[in-house]
Amino acid sequence: MVKETKYYDTLGVKPSASTEELKKAYRKLALKYHPDKNPNEGEKFKQISQAYEVLSDPKKRELYDQGGEQAIKEGGMSGGSGFSSPMDIFDMFFGGGGRAQRERKGKNVVHQLTVSLEEMYNGATRKLALQKNVVCNKCDGRGGKEGAVKPCGVCRGTGMQVRIQQLGPGMVQQIQSVCHECQGSGEQIDPRDRCRQCQGRKVVREKKILEVHIDKGMKDGQKIQFAGEGDQEPGLEPGDVITVLEQKEHPVFHRQGQDLIMEMEIELVEALCGFQRLISTLDDRVIVITSHPGGRIDRVRSRFN
Ligand SMILES: [Zn+2]
Ligand SMILES: [Zn+2]
Repeated sequence: MVKETKYYDTLGVKPSASTEELKKAYRKLALKYHPDKNPNEGEKFKQISQAYEVLSDPKKRELYDQGGEQAIKEGGMSGGSGFSSPMDIFDMFFGGGGRAQRERKGKNVVHQLTVSLEEMYNGATRKLALQKNVVCNKCDGRGGKEGAVKPCGVCRGTGMQVRIQQLGPGMVQQIQSVCHECQGSGEQIDPRDRCRQCQGRKVVREKKILEVHIDKGMKDGQKIQFAGEGDQEPGLEPGDVITVLEQKEHPVFHRQGQDLIMEMEIELVEALCGFQRLISTLDDRVIVITSHPGGRIDRVRSRFN
């Protein structure tokens, strides 16, 4: 028995959930509530991340099962401050490479692609349409005419403003905030010299179609990576587009590892006297299922190759 089920409820799984089930639940919810897709659900995204962080770690999960959230907060977690940032958890899960890589590279974009069991069985090519930022070709990503970009006069190019606030006699506090004049870019462009194609933003939105090749035998949750297809930003190596396959439920077959399992209801008389039925496979073959008299019910298997 577990003390409480809040984290399990957050991920929509039972307390008996396997590692695989936890991963699948996190994957679906994290993609759904990621701030890129759902900017107003930041709190939910955080809860999902915290629940997964605890439950995916066998030690923390055991601690949680015994003592609930209280036990986790009371110092079971290393570092004292508690949880990792939801973005780090997300990046680790989807192979984003963590914070160090994020600073040199633009961020990765994760897309979910729903595919049928037939497509995974036979292989398929699907098109994925996405909007991405590309460096403006009119100004080469400068945002304006050559020489028109100058350091912001308000923050002197740092992008940050520092205010000094007097708290009391002899006590001051420094408050740092993003520069309002340049929105943190540290640059200023005279409106007359601003690039007309990108309005000084240095990048433009473009539609891009990626061809996703689904190989025979690929699995639910499998990732297909497109290196460097993420948003472009001047001076930064673009991140990747990561496509995560999500398999639709199939009305007849379900997959177990490399096997396809199908359950068939039969009459008592068929069980006793035997029967023959035709079934269609995922690659459109028709096979005959034969059961011999005597009550033995065969399990019908068809393998992925
Ligand atoms: Zn500024
Ligand atoms: Zn431009």
